[in-house]
Amino acid sequence: MKVVFIGAGPGDPELITLKGLNRIKRADIIIYAGSLVNPEILQYAPAGVPRYDSAGMNYKEICRVYTKNRNTKGIIARIHTGDPSIYGAVQEQIDFCRREHILWEVIPGVSAFQSAAAALGQELTLPGVSQTVVLSRISGRTPVPERESLERLAQSRSSLILFLSISQIDTICAILAPVYGKKTVCIVVYRASWPDQKIIRGTLENIAAQVEGSGITRQALIMVGDVLRAQEAPFFYELSRLYDPGFTHGRRKGTRQS
Ligand code: SAH
Repeated sequence: MKVVFIGAGPGDPELITLKGLNRIKRADIIIYAGSLVNPEILQYAPAGVPRYDSAGMNYKEICRVYTKNRNTKGIIARIHTGDPSIYGAVQEQIDFCRREHILWEVIPGVSAFQSAAAALGQELTLPGVSQTVVLSRISGRTPVPERESLERLAQSRSSLILFLSISQIDTICAILAPVYGKKTVCIVVYRASWPDQKIIRGTLENIAAQVEGSGITRQALIMVGDVLRAQEAPFFYELSRLYDPGFTHGRRKGTRQS
């Protein structure tokens, strides 16, 4: 048996990779994160294969499914939301498989932040504005190391995307506003790529009130940074060097002498 960790993408069932889908189609056992994985994806699993919703299981119970089936042929499709590498709680499962000599494989997925950027039509790395994307979260039951506190992360004024943090948007804006500037654009994307996706646009000064009014308390990302000015000020950044007519690179000769 091989455990295949599959990123299911942010919600829209078409946003899973072909590789991920092909593994699900020939899975012998399915374990899926019921809270966020779109049930439509499970329809591709062969009829009658056992299905476990990991939302109701603890780590030991999940590992027990791996060990119990280790000597049978086939695939356990372990379906995670978004990409498994981002807040996926996947390392402890991979390490378990490594230690127990159970075969494993990871198939990446489209993360929620990529889907949110796509919904906005927004590049997160604009020349002359920011060339860095910070993915983080506020401390919850899982603490964030002090050296990665929001106060510190904010210092670079990079494009910032916060997972698992929407319930504390008030506190977050209060921390970020003095560093980024209170007029800095802040956008909340709720359930990116799902039919009920919502986008709330504001600034660090006014987004918290809007989010509170909307009733959104989970399944949302907070996006902050000057790159988001492109939403209202097209072409405010420097145009890319890659497509600059004067710029020569390995695949194209430009008009400018260098
Ligand atoms: N591995 C996932 C993240 C899991 S953590 C990924 O790569 O996307 C769960 C958090 O991800 C949620 O609290 C929310 O902040 C975010 N999230 C997951 N799916 C989302 C979606 N469709 N739209 C907005 N945020 C989402």
